[in-house]
Amino acid sequence: MTAQIIDGKQTAAKVREDLARRIAADDSEEMPVLAVVLVGENEASRIYVRNKKKAAAEVGIGCEVLEFSDSIGEHALLEAIGELNDNPHVNGIIVQLPLPEHINPLRVLSNIRPEKDVDGFNPYNAGLLACREPDAVVSATPRGILKLLETTGIELAGKHAVVIGRSNIVGRPAAMLLLNRDCTVSITHSKTENLPAIVRQADIVIAACGQAGLVKKEWIKEGAAVIDVGINRVNGKLCGDVDFEGVSEKAAFITPVPGGVGPMTVAMLLENTYEAFRKQRFAGQAHECRCGSHGCGCSHH
Ligand code: NAD
Repeated sequence: MTAQIIDGKQTAAKVREDLARRIAADDSEEMPVLAVVLVGENEASRIYVRNKKKAAAEVGIGCEVLEFSDSIGEHALLEAIGELNDNPHVNGIIVQLPLPEHINPLRVLSNIRPEKDVDGFNPYNAGLLACREPDAVVSATPRGILKLLETTGIELAGKHAVVIGRSNIVGRPAAMLLLNRDCTVSITHSKTENLPAIVRQADIVIAACGQAGLVKKEWIKEGAAVIDVGINRVNGKLCGDVDFEGVSEKAAFITPVPGGVGPMTVAMLLENTYEAFRKQRFAGQAHECRCGSHGCGCSHH
């Protein structure tokens, strides 16, 4: 078997085009606005933020980047977030991670008002997701993963999904999303014993462990769908957590790195921002849909 490539670049482009069309057709006088909080000089963070800003502009979302020096104290950062929470012109707030060591990321993320938490990292939104509440803001990477799986046409219900990695931003929410879609989910991590044997049972593999080429051909069940979230640099070359060449020979579907999950993350962040904008605008109006999910069947999407 030679795996069919799941083209994240193409799917992300479609999401962004569709979003741009919906925003252009929106009768609101205001434009959706995303605020990005950037602390310190981390070069990778700066590149990510630049990409987000450019992508936002392309779909018609305003993006304000608030930059702070490494030496900012946690209290001052929380105050800045408080101001963004209270600013009616700001619809979405994200804090680019990682933060400097002296700042507790969970405390910062917990202070973003849940309806503006478009990264979905506030424990309140993570809790809503865990409780299968449709109002949860779901973080962008897991949402992108699910969207890519949907493009394959695979019936998710009943499938065994093995998630490699248990981080708050990828592994856990991805596992919750798959569970909410009736998959049987195994969450594995750095202390998991017999990882290859567990992955061998998987119909769906989500590799999100940050270990270049960890997942081998021999670990893969014939016909599985493999989503590679990893972004690693080996000898200056970008690669994922999956041995792409080998695994492609056994899987039915596979995402490349780059060009798989990566482009989806930005697209879904923009989608989350527009959904936040609409929810905030219609908050309090009696019949407005609060489901927050595109394709829910209500008349508002
Ligand atoms: P993380 O370091 O927070 O978590 C890694 C997880 O992998 C941990 O739960 C750890 O237990 C597990 N792990 C580590 N080594 C393992 C091993 N040998 N076997 C099994 N599990 C192991 O990382 P993260 O933030 O979740 O990101 C994971 C990867 O995804 C990284 O490469 C990151 O760069 C990438 N990422 C990509 C996107 C994207 O948009 N494509 C977004 C976020 C993260």
